Amino acid sequence: MKPVPNKGVLDIEAYVPGKSRAPEGIELHKLSSNETPLGPPPAAREAALGAAARLELYPDGQASALKQAIAETHALNPKNILCGNGSDELLGLLCQCYLAPGDEAIHTEHGFLVYAIQIRARGATPVVAPETNATADVDAILSRVTDKTKLVFLANPNNPTGTYLPFDEVRRLHAGLPGNVILVLDAAYAEYVRRNDYGAGIELVSAAENVVMTRTFSKIYGLAALRIGWMYGPEAIVDALDRVRGPFNLNAMAIAAGAAAIRDRAFVERAVSFNAEWLEWTTRELEARGLAVTPSVGNFILIHFPNEPGKGAAEADAFLTQRGFILRRVAGYGFPNALRMSIGSEAANRGVVAALDEFLSGRAA
Ligand SMILES: *Cc1c(COP(=O)(O)O)cnc(C)c1O
Repeated sequence: MKPVPNKGVLDIEAYVPGKSRAPEGIELHKLSSNETPLGPPPAAREAALGAAARLELYPDGQASALKQAIAETHALNPKNILCGNGSDELLGLLCQCYLAPGDEAIHTEHGFLVYAIQIRARGATPVVAPETNATADVDAILSRVTDKTKLVFLANPNNPTGTYLPFDEVRRLHAGLPGNVILVLDAAYAEYVRRNDYGAGIELVSAAENVVMTRTFSKIYGLAALRIGWMYGPEAIVDALDRVRGPFNLNAMAIAAGAAAIRDRAFVERAVSFNAEWLEWTTRELEARGLAVTPSVGNFILIHFPNEPGKGAAEADAFLTQRGFILRRVAGYGFPNALRMSIGSEAANRGVVAALDEFLSGRAA
């Protein structure tokens, strides 16, 4: 006799975060988890330190100050907002509330790995919809819906590809789903997208009973360490998750810092312009060196390496790591010969391009 975890748990391949170590004595440029090189808005840091003065008190279990700041910024009703310990927690709560053993949930071929982990944790089955040109394919998703399907996860834009679905395609996806299936729009990188045909999903959530949008403070707001995410959804879904979540799922520093960060709109604008400039520059420079780069609307790029001995992603990764540039291996996402690079500081972006130049020309191993 020995304890046995629930069905599905041991089928999970544990999430492996981006590496964060450089060799001793070498300056580290962490470009492996899509964090921003700009840090958080200064007011957010001050707010976190202010909250640290009263660590003996439980935080506000409703995270009201944060919800209010989000509601004001995006012109939403706070009743439709639920905050989470990172948006990862909200993705898990959706699975906890809506999936049972035997159910199915769909995600796309190169979709964010957290979906499959949380689906399996409920004893449910992840169903993979193939992508077309490393982009979600609405028809492929719809053709995989069965009467067991309860959730459809769509990261838009997707990580690690950086590709996105135009909003009319998202609408078509929603229109093809039965009313009992929840469409989860994971818009972790929404702030970065500068395309007229993109929408994070707010209008669709407002008009439907079965769509939610998740957002995060880990990326453009530079607060990954504090773990802050939020969901915008119909009251019935918000209510279900609210019953199941931990009563104090956001800590006091997170609530204070998040509320301060989202109010700094000038900071977001600067971060978006900085990213647009360096996303374009880095893509162009790498392509000029013969590397294929998947066109990205996020703050990261997927770089494909040649299928030649000594020139592959694993060798490039080792070469870059030796020089302090930590990128992300993405074999687990179905790209064994690519690396994902977060757009970093000017020095980091220039450094990676120079190092890859050296790597490809075959000098110094
Ligand atoms: C980074 C990321 C998140 C954010 O997760 P947090 O738990 O909020 O830090 C969510 N979805 C995708 C696709 C991401 O890349």
